[in-house]
Amino acid sequence: YGAGGGYGAQQGYSEDRGSARRVADHYSARSNQTLEERENSPIIHLKKLNNWIKSVLIQLYARPGDCVLDLACGKGGDLIKWDKAKVGYYVGVDIAEGSIKDCMTRYNGDTDQQRRKKFSFPARLICTDCYEARLDEYLSEDAPFDICSCQFALHYSWSTEARARQALANVSALLRPGGIFIGTMPDANVIIKRLRESEGLEFGNSVYWVSFGEEYAEKKFPASRPFGIKYKFHLEDAVDCPEWVVPFHLFKLLAEEYGLELVLMKNFHEFVHEYLQKAEFTELMRRLGALGDGRHDQSTLSQDEWEVSYLYLAFVLRKRGQPPSQ
Ligand code: SAM
Repeated sequence: YGAGGGYGAQQGYSEDRGSARRVADHYSARSNQTLEERENSPIIHLKKLNNWIKSVLIQLYARPGDCVLDLACGKGGDLIKWDKAKVGYYVGVDIAEGSIKDCMTRYNGDTDQQRRKKFSFPARLICTDCYEARLDEYLSEDAPFDICSCQFALHYSWSTEARARQALANVSALLRPGGIFIGTMPDANVIIKRLRESEGLEFGNSVYWVSFGEEYAEKKFPASRPFGIKYKFHLEDAVDCPEWVVPFHLFKLLAEEYGLELVLMKNFHEFVHEYLQKAEFTELMRRLGALGDGRHDQSTLSQDEWEVSYLYLAFVLRKRGQPPSQ
């Protein structure tokens, strides 16, 4: 990884935009599920486990009154988690128009699923590409933020170096010194290991598949070209679109260039084993019902869902500098 960045030729700009559009259209087209549809999903326990992991991250790092920036917020599935953390202000940004509309409906609390008290914090929702736009221009009046979250979405920025850099530049520009960046994304080490173990260029199980193109027939990924490593990802009842490998050691180095220092990185399996030891998170897991009494068994998460969770990691970064004194 060369100082000052620069990884040679980039993918064409228009191809890159087309890919971002495909991702946006995919998520925009996904309609809100009814509670019954959700409970019948083949990955219902995986969804609950993912929610538990996001809740643990939020409970560990958000503080009452925090100003929150939720990049790629989707339909606002984390609004309730932020509410429980008693945050003071919320800005959600997503590229998918349909998701932002659903998020607004959820915030306003007027769907059948969301007959609940209104959220206690004011919110602002923005529909734009977080990895292309200069978000500090949109959000100059809202910044600085105490905490930024990007859940299951940062890998969509690794289609080109310029987008990966813009993603980190946005986070860095908008967080206060000492501010926290939490996220979840695919674990490139596991994905490449699975690819190399498979006979062809595909692998998966009953609930997901990953497919690489012929250009990766040799299964080699030179460190000099870490961006734009595309694969197709299909997860039953959830995802079906192009994604990009994020080599974590390079992500860590790039983040450092933007003043973001690594605090924590754990594959989901390690994360579950570690945080399930803590009583308050075991209780949360029991309430969500992903792992029953806290153990992984067939009556809850299936083996195939558990395998999918191994494809992901959680990370925490901190913006360099001292927080302003209270
Ligand atoms: N963070 C939400 C959650 O955890 O429920 C949504 C996760 S969903 C798997 C991925 C989200 O990333 C989608 O809502 C999608 O529209 C969004 N996304 C993908 N590329 C994006 C981009 N370039 N800018 C903003 N949002 C993007």
